[in-house]
Amino acid sequence: MDTLQETKTRVFKFGDKTADGNSKMKNLLGGKGANLAEMNLIGIPVPPGFTITTEVCTEYNLLGQEALVNLITPEVEKAIENIENIMGAKFGDKENPLLVSVRSGARVSMPGMMDTVLNLGLNDEVVLGLAAKTKNERFAWDSYRRFIQMYGDVVLGMKQESKDDIDPFEEIMEALKHKRGIVLDTDFTVQDLKDLCYDFKNAVKKGTGHDFPTDPWEQLWGAVVAVFNSWNGNRAIYYRTMNGYPSEWGTAVNVQAMVYGNMGNNSGTGVCFTRDAGTGENLFNGEYLINAQGEDVVAGTRTPQQITKIGSIRWAELAKIEEEERAKNYPSLEELMPTIYNELNEYQQKLEDHYRDMQDMEFTIQDGKLWILQTRNGKRTGAAMVKIAVDKLKEGSITEEEALLRIEANKLDELLHPVFDTKALKRAHVIAHGLPASPGAATGQIVFFADEAAKFKSSILVRIETSPEDLEGMNIAKGILTARGGMTSHAAVVARGMGKCCISGAGALQINYKTRTLTVDGHEYHEGDWISLNGSTGYIIEGKVATSEPELSGEFAELMKLSDKYTTMKVRTNADSPKDAKVAVKFGAQGIGLTRTEHMFFEADRIKAMREMILSDTIKGRKIALEELLPMQRSDFEGIFEAMAGLPVTVRLLDPPLHEFVPHVLVTQRELAEEMHISLEQVKAKIAELEEFNPMLGHRGCRLGITYPEITEMQARAIIEAALNLKEKGIVAVPEIMIPLIGTVAEFENQAAVIRATADKVFEERNDTIEYLVGTMIEIPRAALIADLIAAKADFFSFGTNDLTQMTFGYSRDDAGKFLPIYIEKGILTSDPFEVLDQQGVGQLVKMGTNKGRSVKPNLKVGICGEHGGEPSSVEFCYNTGMNYVSCSPFRVPIARIASAQAAIKAKA
Ligand code: ADP
Ligand code: MG
Ligand code: MG
Repeated sequence: MDTLQETKTRVFKFGDKTADGNSKMKNLLGGKGANLAEMNLIGIPVPPGFTITTEVCTEYNLLGQEALVNLITPEVEKAIENIENIMGAKFGDKENPLLVSVRSGARVSMPGMMDTVLNLGLNDEVVLGLAAKTKNERFAWDSYRRFIQMYGDVVLGMKQESKDDIDPFEEIMEALKHKRGIVLDTDFTVQDLKDLCYDFKNAVKKGTGHDFPTDPWEQLWGAVVAVFNSWNGNRAIYYRTMNGYPSEWGTAVNVQAMVYGNMGNNSGTGVCFTRDAGTGENLFNGEYLINAQGEDVVAGTRTPQQITKIGSIRWAELAKIEEEERAKNYPSLEELMPTIYNELNEYQQKLEDHYRDMQDMEFTIQDGKLWILQTRNGKRTGAAMVKIAVDKLKEGSITEEEALLRIEANKLDELLHPVFDTKALKRAHVIAHGLPASPGAATGQIVFFADEAAKFKSSILVRIETSPEDLEGMNIAKGILTARGGMTSHAAVVARGMGKCCISGAGALQINYKTRTLTVDGHEYHEGDWISLNGSTGYIIEGKVATSEPELSGEFAELMKLSDKYTTMKVRTNADSPKDAKVAVKFGAQGIGLTRTEHMFFEADRIKAMREMILSDTIKGRKIALEELLPMQRSDFEGIFEAMAGLPVTVRLLDPPLHEFVPHVLVTQRELAEEMHISLEQVKAKIAELEEFNPMLGHRGCRLGITYPEITEMQARAIIEAALNLKEKGIVAVPEIMIPLIGTVAEFENQAAVIRATADKVFEERNDTIEYLVGTMIEIPRAALIADLIAAKADFFSFGTNDLTQMTFGYSRDDAGKFLPIYIEKGILTSDPFEVLDQQGVGQLVKMGTNKGRSVKPNLKVGICGEHGGEPSSVEFCYNTGMNYVSCSPFRVPIARIASAQAAIKAKA
């Protein structure tokens, strides 16, 4: 290492209302570390500690453990000393011991990261000192058994990722509980806890072959290194890949003085949100447990109680408990510890004001004193995201631009999914209920193990509780149901982050992983049985329930309106039918960017005529079949033009290879032969003739229209006649006729001439005219290269980035499934170029094509109609390229509108 690196700060201290770092340093200190520092700076009580930077994680990967420890020991020793001074206790001391927690923390919160180790610094002697000092033997031994378990699981790898979820320590505890006839951890006696510590250490010795480390410094370094290692663990890698976070980021490590929520009934711990993370409502809410440490709430071992009274009442209504019983047995923190509650309420307001966004906080009460242990911008559902942004805008605490930038465009997708049909819900058989942990509707087949979530097309993951290993399966499942855990359990928090329907804490469920059964009220359900979850009410329903389209009004509509104010780039839709067109208009589409005419040919009554056209050997035969197709096409166009009344509609002429239309099944081939009065052999021979070695690069696109001009004629006639028919009804239609797969100017000229001649003919016949454009797709790299020459002839360009990506990379989209996932896994590609536009390569062609085109026709209308038109980062690219519009599938229109506004705002900044 050179000297410059040796002199940089690697450890940032915080405590006693001062801090070396602050909230702006998330990249260096991780989100948790940066916010712990910031909270000190604004006067929130936070236990003192320090953060080892994310850069050290990268250094560790290069240097290895020993060199790393040498490198940072002096700084860490000083930082520990600082904690000791503030807390008036000593790390490793037998009489007045300081214990710490070791917490991971990347720049973004990552459920795949290492679990926290609490109570670090304990050993057989220190535990006696802690007991004497606090005069609380029970607490000391409870802390010790927790420490051995956490350190054993997390640092020493004792928890096997086994099918039955066996944590060896849990097994030992369960056995003891069984023997002693108790249910809760809090029922253990001091002797029980001592026995547990003894048994736990033996289990470690047996499991790892080594004694449990007794030296606090050895424990500390073990935990620090485990955090760094977890950055490259499978779970973290999976989460990173899912979210596109680079491996260079690294994680920070936070070491912090322990505060104890397990000191008795005047202590406790909890998690709270400044607003409802499910609905976005402005309601302070959360959960807590008395006499417990942090992990107890999240892990869902005991079902926690509500922080606010109103939350408790709502929960009681759901659980059908009398208010009196509720108040007695399940008091809210507000009722039980009003002073602490008031203080907490003050901090939550202060923190939300300070960060100007909904906060998710952790707190611990040690013997009547409140400590805040974490704050971060809370994960939330798509619906909550929209409501919170709009509400905060109305409250005047953020600007319009900020409100728009707060929206994670892709997350709007959640709002566009169907919801349970209210009528169907009335007839539904509710088998049980749990907490409405993450709203939405989900129907699927039961699976009990996360790694089996892909077993069915729609599955519901049913677990006693979930853990970070289950992440991948939770992502695949349509919904998540857990028997244990509260609104802040792992399952609930992760599901809300994913926008996935989730019900947690459904206590009536008995889940047996071994027999793969779910029993409720004596009724047994098996793997593969259908159930439905209403994540908004917490109701678990037997079988499938019908769904209906979501309502998109209120805050969502306001946000959409706002987005139009900030951008000039329009959002059109890809739609092949009047139905799709109508949906898209409802979502705010400002035109159609792509109508694929071939989709119309696949419908039952048309495919026959289409096949006759393709299989006939003569122009005459083709023309007869085309005569049949003409009125069908015309009425399709009328429907679409009508749905889009007055908005531009781009219609692409026939594009796919003809082989796609012919029958491949013998029965259908025979039928066709009969209808066409030819032999089966002739049909088969013709089909064989159409077969191509490489259809993607074969007889398709404008090549069809050039070889069979009568097809182009029919399509042009259908479009122009449809527009004229609507004109008679007083509806304006603005057709933009698009010629596909152009690679040379002559190709374009050839087809444009056919279209224009046909249009003139129809105008003459009808003695009337309409406005129309003739343009082309830019989807072959050569077209982008000669875009200036094409623009001289074409009225508009539309980038077909699906084919352009395919041909630029040389990846056949239909075959790429075999290697693209591996490319992404190995980091050869960072994302699927068919989903996220490759700005570096394909993007150059798009830019070049646009610029060249506009160099001869400055006002050339340019758009994009590939799948990329609805992907936020690609939309931003299109905006910066100066496109007039993007076009995407109807359900992605709102996403593209937000992305377009965000691109405009970012470009201005
Ligand atoms: P995660 O990122 O999984 O939430 P955390 O590091 O935040 O992990 O810690 C897990 C739990 O342990 C939280 O409830 C947290 O409040 C608690 N915790 C962490 N450090 C301390 C500490 N120094 N004293 C008391 N509780 C702590
Ligand atoms: Mg954790
Ligand atoms: Mg936390």
